[in-house]
Amino acid sequence: MSELLPIDVQTACALLKSKKISAVELTQLTLDRIENVEARIGAFLTLTHDLALKQAQKVDERRRNGDALSPMAGIPIALKDNLCTTGTKTTAGSKILHNFIPPYDATVVSKLREAGAVFVGKTNLDEFAMGSSTENSGFQTTKNPWDTQRVPGGSSGGSAAAVAAQEALVSLGSDTGGSIRQPASFCGVVGMKPTYGRVSRFGLIAYASSLDQIGPFGKTVMDCALLLNEIAGHDPSDSTSVELPVPDFTAFPKEIKGIRIGIPNEYFGSGVMPEVADRVREAAKKLEELGAIVEECSLPYTNYALAAYYIIAPAECSSNLARFDGVKYGHRTKELSGHIGLIEKSRDEGFGAEVKQRIMIGTYALSAGYYDAYYKRAQQARTLIRRDFDRAFEKYDVLLTPTAPTPAFKIGEKADPMEMKLADICTIPVNMAGLPGISTPCGFVNGLPVGMQLIGKPFDEITLFRVSSAYEEATERTARFPVI
Ligand code: GLN
Repeated sequence: MSELLPIDVQTACALLKSKKISAVELTQLTLDRIENVEARIGAFLTLTHDLALKQAQKVDERRRNGDALSPMAGIPIALKDNLCTTGTKTTAGSKILHNFIPPYDATVVSKLREAGAVFVGKTNLDEFAMGSSTENSGFQTTKNPWDTQRVPGGSSGGSAAAVAAQEALVSLGSDTGGSIRQPASFCGVVGMKPTYGRVSRFGLIAYASSLDQIGPFGKTVMDCALLLNEIAGHDPSDSTSVELPVPDFTAFPKEIKGIRIGIPNEYFGSGVMPEVADRVREAAKKLEELGAIVEECSLPYTNYALAAYYIIAPAECSSNLARFDGVKYGHRTKELSGHIGLIEKSRDEGFGAEVKQRIMIGTYALSAGYYDAYYKRAQQARTLIRRDFDRAFEKYDVLLTPTAPTPAFKIGEKADPMEMKLADICTIPVNMAGLPGISTPCGFVNGLPVGMQLIGKPFDEITLFRVSSAYEEATERTARFPVI
């Protein structure tokens, strides 16, 4: 049976439907794989072996009864550990939540439960999704399946590594400034950040609420489209989720003739490794051969994105993280030190250095004397960035850029926090404008995978799937999986 791996959702779905394999068998296969490789990868913070087998049994029963089943029924999936799961520990990668068992499901989680997806475990992340490598996790650093000396990217590094190492068929991550796309690029899988408002954030432990969005990881573009079908849509519990019809994201035309692709030259600047830029330009050529119209363009305010993001995201996190006080839930200090002392000490013991730094930056930027100088100006820059995109989309259907300036770096290599933050230089502007973005593997540099990013118009995820799928179909899919 193990010769079935690597297997994508589409193939698994066909095998399950024709009863060539049962959901329990597919789940057992995945659990065995986890058993074999997890000690070397460390993708998971919690494994839910028993739950997975129970869910799989139920799907097999439903199939025997002839129930209509969703394509995700019986599919082993991994969930980032900042998505609340009833009865299963949810830590957000932080010691402050080391013992938190949510009494409710995130909306995406309850949708997947209903669809019959099989939950194999909760994946590692940078604490509260703040980081680009999983090195900020309060518990462990996940290893890149292509080279275990290297990081898988972050913050959703566990979710990306789990799919690359075949410890799950698909997974969910969250993306505030690149946390789905950048690890997808580092691990050689596909990852999408949907438009802000496309997917409910209810039950996602908030980092920066105006930027966060949940999205899928898969081995193929189609797998991401199938998973997005299950999780997208308006949710009365999240007032920022948009009441728009949800298309079938898999129903895109199979060709891209006449699609207009812009290549913003700001994304190929000095920080981008020349070999990475080469891979993306080669991909652009391929897309041209397939009938797309490719042109250079400019997004002049790109350079402000990183600076503005590192005001806005910490500002929002300083407010969101105020709820962790050692009183309501999570870690509580053992020291007896009075009411305020209890809160101070619990937070001091529970939060890691990066989180503390961001809370301090955020409260500083929002304080009375500095609000206009920092927060207001960052929001103004955000508007300019959004307008850059609006203008570009008058001419182009999608924009093509590298996903990250380099392939995966070595664990411990980016000691300078500024250098670490530059890993998201190509992805952050997309969150600032609320747009959808997808990273698809587009080759290798020094044996490590590299991703290209396609950015789309608001709520036009389907065109991103269309273009990346055409590229994927037209290029070699071999050697897509690391040997572990
Ligand atoms: N690396 C960025 C940060 O640390 C983005 C993280 C994310 O998208 N969650 O804020």
